[in-house]
Amino acid sequence: MEETIAAISTPIGEGGIAIVRLSGPRAIGIADAIYVSPRGRVADFSTHTVHFGSIGRNGEIIDQVMLTVMRAPKTYTAEDVVEINCHGGLLTAKNILGQCLTHGARLAEPGEFTKRAFLNGRIDLTQAEAVMDLIGAKTNRAHTAAVHALEGHLSKRLEEARERLITVLAHIEATIDFPEDDLSADTREKWLADTTAIMAFLNQLLATAQEGRVLRQGIAVAIIGRPNAGKSSLMNALLGQDRSIVTPIAGTTRDTIEETANIRGIPIRLTDTAGIRKPRGAVEHHGISRSRKSLEASDLILHIVDNSRVFSKTDSELSALYEGKPAIQVLNKLDLPKKLVLPAEFPKRETVAVSSLLGDGIEQLKDKIEAIAWSGRVGSADVDVAINERQADAIRRSLKSLTTATEEMNGKSSQEIISQELRISLDAIGEIVGKTATEDILAKIFSTFCIGK
Ligand code: GDP
Repeated sequence: MEETIAAISTPIGEGGIAIVRLSGPRAIGIADAIYVSPRGRVADFSTHTVHFGSIGRNGEIIDQVMLTVMRAPKTYTAEDVVEINCHGGLLTAKNILGQCLTHGARLAEPGEFTKRAFLNGRIDLTQAEAVMDLIGAKTNRAHTAAVHALEGHLSKRLEEARERLITVLAHIEATIDFPEDDLSADTREKWLADTTAIMAFLNQLLATAQEGRVLRQGIAVAIIGRPNAGKSSLMNALLGQDRSIVTPIAGTTRDTIEETANIRGIPIRLTDTAGIRKPRGAVEHHGISRSRKSLEASDLILHIVDNSRVFSKTDSELSALYEGKPAIQVLNKLDLPKKLVLPAEFPKRETVAVSSLLGDGIEQLKDKIEAIAWSGRVGSADVDVAINERQADAIRRSLKSLTTATEEMNGKSSQEIISQELRISLDAIGEIVGKTATEDILAKIFSTFCIGK
């Protein structure tokens, strides 16, 4: 018999409520062992109802709770589920969970509730992954993409691709017993056309991988510039709130500060580096090596140049650091009299003039950041999903086999050889939704979940 699992499904810490979730064949029995209410036993409550009561331990009350009973199969895991809403805080939920374990539940592994939902056929793998994306979404745009995947938009498209592929495969396999000469040229032409159409369809999905990457991980942007150029001020202007402390004393931002800004629906991870310059003290040195690291790890560099001061050699040195990387040169302090004259040898990149203090030019800067973030994205407006790396990898493998298959169709290989490639391609697509997923794939996906999910 399947074990009954339990976990705290809300974040640990102080909060209004916390939820302990139980799932499995003994969920209701275990709840009855710890739940006390004059209204009766959990076993007698009808499904999808909520009840007030207490959770006890050795005759003492741990907390007053609201208990929800949901019987299989219409539940998150498709098993019997009991959720106990208790007061938040560090101890209450922990003690209630302890009681569940004492009475026979096992502590759930990371993602195990969602894994059961998958294993019990309630959702497919793309939907399980969407649960994670939904929890981790940092912008509304990322959130919308996750909701679409959760609703099965991606599954539907993949199922369509699978069905089309199965149809071609069935045609080909039906002719396997026929001698080669009996096949008309038209038949092969038809296979070729169908396979090519499926490839176009898969390529369209694959094109959303870049959008998926940007929406899930965001892009890392490093803000560099000499001391007092306005790095912290620009960071605040982009964040839209006063987040880091802005100070007129040079060299006070010693370490890097990282914050995530929502720019046009893209999570932008901003790093304000301590001015990259010759180290004076140990602390500064530390800051500089961290700055260099964050430069290396960033997708885009914003080089802030102070428009109100004369050109400094430091700016030339800084510009050498981002050679060959995407960068925007931000001429700051537009509101002050211009003293800056960029020498001819200064490497020219995209430029925007802004006043971080007044907010002038910030929208134009956001436009440029957005354009760079989406560069490489192939517009596929009619595709409303954004696939992840695992899904992209499987689609690439599927396409590779289809390419080989089309070559074989052209080269007049035997039907067996062609159908073999189509089967490999079909399996790769099946892997995405979980139809042909191995234990390894499942372990990899669900281990990234948190406990209680
Ligand atoms: P950082 O050392 O590069 O982080 O520079 P800060 O952001 O701390 O800014 C240094 C000083 O320049 C502060 O006094 C800011 O108020 C000022 N400052 C920053 N941006 C502007 C701007 O666009 N216009 C004006 N007038 N002052 C600015």
